[in-house]
Amino acid sequence: MRAKTLISAACAALALLTAGAAAAQAPDSLKVTICGSGGPLPIKDRAKPCVAVQAGGALYLVDVGPESTENLQLWRMPLATVRAVFVTHLHSDHIGDLGEFNMQSWVAGRAAPLEVVGPPGVAALAAGFNQAYGPDHGFRNAHHEHDGIKLPIPLGLLKAKTIALPATPDPKAVQEKLAWSQDGLTVTAIRVEHHPATPAYAYRFDYKGRSVVVSGDTVKWAPLAEAAKGADVLIHEAQNNDMTRQMSGGLKMLGNDRIASIMADTTTYHTSPVEAAELAKAAGVKQLVLYHLTQAGLPFFTPEGFTKGIDKVGYLDWRLAKDGMTIELPVGGTEVKFGQN
Ligand SMILES: [Zn+2]
Ligand SMILES: [Zn+2]
Repeated sequence: MRAKTLISAACAALALLTAGAAAAQAPDSLKVTICGSGGPLPIKDRAKPCVAVQAGGALYLVDVGPESTENLQLWRMPLATVRAVFVTHLHSDHIGDLGEFNMQSWVAGRAAPLEVVGPPGVAALAAGFNQAYGPDHGFRNAHHEHDGIKLPIPLGLLKAKTIALPATPDPKAVQEKLAWSQDGLTVTAIRVEHHPATPAYAYRFDYKGRSVVVSGDTVKWAPLAEAAKGADVLIHEAQNNDMTRQMSGGLKMLGNDRIASIMADTTTYHTSPVEAAELAKAAGVKQLVLYHLTQAGLPFFTPEGFTKGIDKVGYLDWRLAKDGMTIELPVGGTEVKFGQN
């Protein structure tokens, strides 16, 4: 009996390594899974920023923050179907798991090199991870490629695709460019503003009449509202700067001037929950999902405190992301279906 239990536990663990039926898509839809809803601070149960998008039988990611690969594996997402990671900007909390995710999807059987799409800098990013993982690729290829199992090293190498947008941000005009087009899906890169982490991009996914926009990191940026016009869902970053200033003040009182100063600096380049709701209202999107929640999980965090004032904006269809939240947009309809892994 005990042996049987152990065997079934082992099978369950091994199932995590297989392409997942659990994370399969409905017949035809644009499906989003929040694979990282946290900000840069360590928060239990929240990986750093990552949004997975499934369309046309393929998987795409917007950012791949630390801990997000483990989430995707635990939910049995079909890693072998991934085609590209769209990088919003090169802050470490958005790219830290790129090497691990690339390796895991290669081992899972990805049929082509993983493309890393994003602003200038992604070529060096891809080359750096390829160099760092060079020995690992060699070890795994030497050990596992036998009896018909292939693990070709070229498929394990990240392939960069740089999307160039004007270097100077224009707060009055949409600056955007087509970043991807395949199997009915188009992905548009939209310049946002996250100085000095420049350039930073948001991404809009359009698939057979359904659409999702992911902000990445940015201040409240009016052109993003314009570019997100009519989208079904806007997934926007959110940091409560009143809370950030309180955290900075508390750290100063404790004598940690260094981190207090760094914390205070971050108030210049994010969007508050209230501002994100204002943007969603201006864009006329159906649903707003706040992610990259800097303060979520901290002892004083309450959803009410974090989003204080948001209901005064008059935009009511908002919610806070959780890791594992799914948003499914069936093709041919207008429904927005929320679920949880
Ligand atoms: Zn950032
Ligand atoms: Zn960030």
